[in-house]
Amino acid sequence: MGSVQIVTTILAAAITAVAVWLAVRAVMKMVAVIRLGQPAPERFTDKGTRTRTMLVETAGHTRMLRWGVVGAAHWFVMVGFIVLSLLVLEAYFEVVSPTGGLPLIGGLAVYGLVTELIAVLGTVGILVLIAIRLRNRPTRPGGRSRFTGSTMWQGYFVEAVVLAVLIMGFVIRGFKVATDHFEYPVWATPVSHAVGALLPDWSAGVSIAAFIKIAISMTWLIVIALNVTMGVAWHRFLAFFNIFFKREPARPAGSGLGPLRPMMSDGKPLDFEEADPEKDQFGVAQVEQFSWKGLLDFSTCTECGRCQSQCPAWNTGKPLSPKLLILSLRDHAYAKAPYLLAGGGKDLTGEEKATQAQLAHLDVLALAEADKPLIGTAEEGGVIDPDVLWSCTTCGACVEQCPVDIEHVDHIVDMRRYQVLIESSFPSEAGVMLRNLENKGNPWGAPQNTREDWTKGLDFEVPRVGEVDDFEYLFWVGCAGAFEDRAKKTTRAVATLLNEAGVKFAILGEGETCSGDPARRIGNEFVFQMLAQQNVETLNEAFEGREKRNRKIVATCPHCFNTLGNEYGQLGGEFEVVHHTQLLAHLVGTGKLTPVQPVDGGVTYHDPCYLGRHNRVFAAPREVLGDAIQGELTEMPRNSERSFCCGAGGARMWMEEKIGKRINVDRVEEAMATGARTVAVGCPFCSTMLNDGVNGKGAGEQVEVVDVASVLLRSVKPDVAPGDKETAPVAG
Ligand code: SF4
Ligand code: SF4
Repeated sequence: MGSVQIVTTILAAAITAVAVWLAVRAVMKMVAVIRLGQPAPERFTDKGTRTRTMLVETAGHTRMLRWGVVGAAHWFVMVGFIVLSLLVLEAYFEVVSPTGGLPLIGGLAVYGLVTELIAVLGTVGILVLIAIRLRNRPTRPGGRSRFTGSTMWQGYFVEAVVLAVLIMGFVIRGFKVATDHFEYPVWATPVSHAVGALLPDWSAGVSIAAFIKIAISMTWLIVIALNVTMGVAWHRFLAFFNIFFKREPARPAGSGLGPLRPMMSDGKPLDFEEADPEKDQFGVAQVEQFSWKGLLDFSTCTECGRCQSQCPAWNTGKPLSPKLLILSLRDHAYAKAPYLLAGGGKDLTGEEKATQAQLAHLDVLALAEADKPLIGTAEEGGVIDPDVLWSCTTCGACVEQCPVDIEHVDHIVDMRRYQVLIESSFPSEAGVMLRNLENKGNPWGAPQNTREDWTKGLDFEVPRVGEVDDFEYLFWVGCAGAFEDRAKKTTRAVATLLNEAGVKFAILGEGETCSGDPARRIGNEFVFQMLAQQNVETLNEAFEGREKRNRKIVATCPHCFNTLGNEYGQLGGEFEVVHHTQLLAHLVGTGKLTPVQPVDGGVTYHDPCYLGRHNRVFAAPREVLGDAIQGELTEMPRNSERSFCCGAGGARMWMEEKIGKRINVDRVEEAMATGARTVAVGCPFCSTMLNDGVNGKGAGEQVEVVDVASVLLRSVKPDVAPGDKETAPVAG
């Protein structure tokens, strides 16, 4: 060992020892913070599926690849990081000896080839990512960036380190080539040989370059160890765990979509019959009341901003960005952690748990952080502004796009639950809706005895459950479908089509009450459970004696469809629920309904969030429309998984939209830009919002917003279409 190698070896050992010590300390700190969260035993079930999903999502980059070039570039960088860690290890042998290499595999041509290839692709990948970050930098003139609010220096630092480490790999190999100590053939390592041709015959260069590579890698480790909230770096380790512990590992995408989680206290679903707010946790009022998976979510965020770029609230000038919400919760959790780890915290009655002695030596910043209300305005020093919390439509675009499976919607609803149930703090205009739900069983407060009014004037009888036993489908009409004028047309269209196709169906009539979706999404789990339990009892009675596969329900409202199909199971109601577009697609496909007259004028389709993203029903409505128009749909730029919300979900239907541009107007402008005369929808709330948007733009004469069922009815029975064809653009 020469003097150069002695120095490089000592320096490499020293910086590595410091970096490893700091990294171990950082991991212990991170684990301690995550463990502050509430138990979540359900995250440990079904480990086989979890492992499979984690491997498929990470190795296949299933979310990232939807972003084309970025996804591919990130894949090469990720694989490069894993495989080229071997080259960092190899550098430790090279600081000791210029001829050093990895034992066993070092020297094998295949090892030389694979590492060379991945280093080249990784270099291209990181250059692409750097270019994309620069092109989308928040300070660029014009436009909103998905990186707005991200800690940009951290992103640039991580990318610069990756690039430097890759380049140093070629320099080390180049010096080995130049000093004739390189054992790999030119065909396997052409770039290294090309670099070697430019370098002098200097054997100390190998050890010095290897030391520089180690120093860069260890500096990276030291920086991230000193910044435990640096998700852009830590996600390389945490993403595997976050994906493994996602809440529904069997769902191929959007695992945090579909059903909401029940309200949990101490890791168990809360039973309102026995719940006590002084003993049980009602939603989330303190950051440590999130589950440990919530705290892992916050730690894993890479600050990539994909969620932000898709969020309807953010895109229309509201203060909510799902990314910034997660980052605020993360920063608060880590800043408050010293206080919590010292034994601090409030019990459920609001009393301090720690003794004065426990808090005596605590950092004042941690104590100040502990005093911040989780929900509060800037003046109150709140972590999350109420306008942020109430801007969410629960559309799920953030969850759908997040590459590391963060469950934003659950966290938002958990915070809403505390605000509504304990603080009675929510936008006042929504109070009418909640009162109507409690007193009348529907958000409009319409009399229950008018639930069947939509059947009047139909030229066939609509049977009720109890009057007939041999129905195949229970037609769940929903409150909008029963009381709201536009939605009633859809209800009549569906009933007419089912009757035409010979489907045996029956309704509950006055036995039906609101599914509870708006109460649950606003955070009033108590009212949700009250309504849901009543419905589950009614439905169980209606289907008495039938197996689950024969307990078929068809619903026209995606919110009812989602709640009955995905959430009633939490209360003992197991049903096979389909959306009417699915049933209609089946009836057309099997020849029971025959479209005869093409609907023309151009049709575009707006995917309702709770049908599309939350439940992955994208094809059926398009099939029905394709059959009805006997041609191609005109798609909006944002469609299917990337569809843009109408603005009504998350109980936003019953709140005023006072900040920014109206979401429905943004969507209507996109729909109108397609030139289609018909905007087809599959949800009564979308119908209301988009109709309002069209009318607000004074375009009611040119553009019609109408349900898929009504479009089909015009094609199947152009002479009937009860009450629906006043403005129908029908070919003729
Ligand atoms: S659910 Fe929709 S509105 Fe809510 S934060 Fe996510 S993207 Fe934004
Ligand atoms: S929450 Fe997910 S999508 Fe949003 S910035 Fe973080 S990692 Fe990216």
